[in-house]
Parts: sequence; structure tokens; C-alpha cells
Amino acid sequence: MSSVAAAKECCMVALLVSASLLLHAQKTSMLVVGIMQDGGRPQLGCLKPCCKDIKQREFVSSIALIDSANQVFHLLDATPDIASQFQWIYQSLPATYKMGSIFLTHGHIGHYTGLQFLGRESMNASNVPVYVMPRMGRFLNENGPWSQLIRLKNIQLQTLTQEQAVQLGSFQITPLLVPHRDEFSETVGFRIKGAGKSLLFIPDIDKWEKWDRLLATEIEKVDYAFIDGTFFAGGEVNRPMREIPHPFISETVTLLSALPRTIRERVYFTHFNHTNPLLQRKHPDRIRLEKEGYHFATTGTKLPL
Ligand SMILES: [Zn+2]
Ligand SMILES: [Zn+2]
Ligand SMILES: [Zn+2]
Repeated sequence: MSSVAAAKECCMVALLVSASLLLHAQKTSMLVVGIMQDGGRPQLGCLKPCCKDIKQREFVSSIALIDSANQVFHLLDATPDIASQFQWIYQSLPATYKMGSIFLTHGHIGHYTGLQFLGRESMNASNVPVYVMPRMGRFLNENGPWSQLIRLKNIQLQTLTQEQAVQLGSFQITPLLVPHRDEFSETVGFRIKGAGKSLLFIPDIDKWEKWDRLLATEIEKVDYAFIDGTFFAGGEVNRPMREIPHPFISETVTLLSALPRTIRERVYFTHFNHTNPLLQRKHPDRIRLEKEGYHFATTGTKLPL
């Protein structure tokens, strides 16, 4: 082969490789469909400006995983805002897409009670796979109204095992146990591998120090880390904060301060309490942290996965 022909062939191969990489990268994506702590915003009973003055509800934290090759989307958590979030998803996807599965992190109201709308009083869904850890599964099986969803086959429970990946179309989803106030269930976060990128989703954890893993190491393994940003700092709510432990954003950024900027840029805080001052886009501390590379999750953000 002449050197000109060889160069041409080499060029073609490079083009084909980059085109297939592009297609690959577009096969899966994620859509942020909620960013708030379990109570959402407005939160019931809050008469302060954080809730009284808002015009539009901010939905409870959830992410839709979109699998374009198979025309389905999966939900991470079933929030009390699921009906509006469903509408939001269909405003950004062709109507040919179907709801696939739901993955639940734990048994606190913001993370599973949306399941009620899959029942006969509302959607009357048919056999939607709901992936749960064993204790969460028992809780749903043994308590109404959730047990009725199972009995009437609106949902179909699938049991997850710690650190064992589930392959679902173009996604691989792995549950990771995290320490949290586990009154009704254990609590997990998820590591998700898409066609091109990966995501860590931990909306609730008590404190990073209580975890048997290092946050920095877990962030280094993924492209995006959507993590607990419930409170900015202590004293934010008028009740003992040790009863509702979360890593303060101020603590998390101290913990990650030695990381290179390229790693810090993977962090997206989410699951904000209505009182979190960093919900204000022009808050000086939010602007400072954004300059350091951190992101604040926004409903409607779509990222390639
Ligand atoms: Zn929560
Ligand atoms: Zn409020
Ligand atoms: Zn919780």
C-alpha cells in the first residue's frame, strides 16, 4: 500500500472511531428532575421567605436515567412529586419512550412515597420493576398501602444485593450501603455506569466519616457525583441538628479541599433543605464554591452518561 493510501485509510479509521464514540456517548444520559430534601419547597408549615415567596414548587431530589438505544427511562427514587416529574421527563423526551424501572434508596418519605401514584387510585401501572434492598422490600411487602401495589401487580419488587451490579439495557446500576437513620429500611446510594460515563448518587447520608468508604476515592471513580447537600452549615434549622445528621456542605468542601479542581468539578450538591441559603443563586458562598469548581444541581439539567 502506498504511503498516501495508508494515510487515507488511517484517517478514515480515525473518523469512524470518533463517530462511533460520539454515538456511544449519546446512547445514555441523565436528567435531573428534582433537587430538594424530602419535604420539597414549599415545605409544609414554613412561613419564611424560603417557602412563602416562591412561585413554583421545587421538586424532591430524583434523577431520570435515559436509555436512548432502548427508548426507556429509569427513575432513581419515587418522590411525592413523581407525577410532575413524569410530566417534566415527557416534555424533554419523545412520547415513544417508556418508563422502565424505579430504584429506591431508602424508606424516608421523599424517596419512596411516590409509588402510591402507581396504584389503582392513580396511574394503575402494570408490573413496574421496583429495585430495593431486602429490608426496604420487606417494609413495602408488609405495610399498606404499598403491599396492595404488590398484590395488584402495579409494581414488581426486585431485590438488590450490596455492591452487586444490575445490568439494565445500556445501564449498570450498583447499590452501595451508606449510614443513615435507618428506621424502616437500610439506605443505599447508587453507582451508575452508562454507555460512556458514570455517576454516583447519594442523596442522603449521615456523615461521610461514618461511611466505610472514602468520599474522595468514590468521586475519583466516576464522572459525576450527585451528593447530599441538605444543609450548608450548622444552626440552619430550629431543632437539634444531631437528630437529623447530614454532612454540611461546608464540611464536605473542607474534606475535598485537597483534591485537584478536575475532581472537585465532578461534585453536584443536591437534596437541599428548604432552609439552605445556597439555594439562592447569588449567595456569596455559592458563588465562591462554584468558582472552586463545585456544582449545585438544577432541575432540568441533562448530562451525557
Ligand atoms: Zn431524603
Ligand atoms: Zn422554607
Ligand atoms: Zn433519609
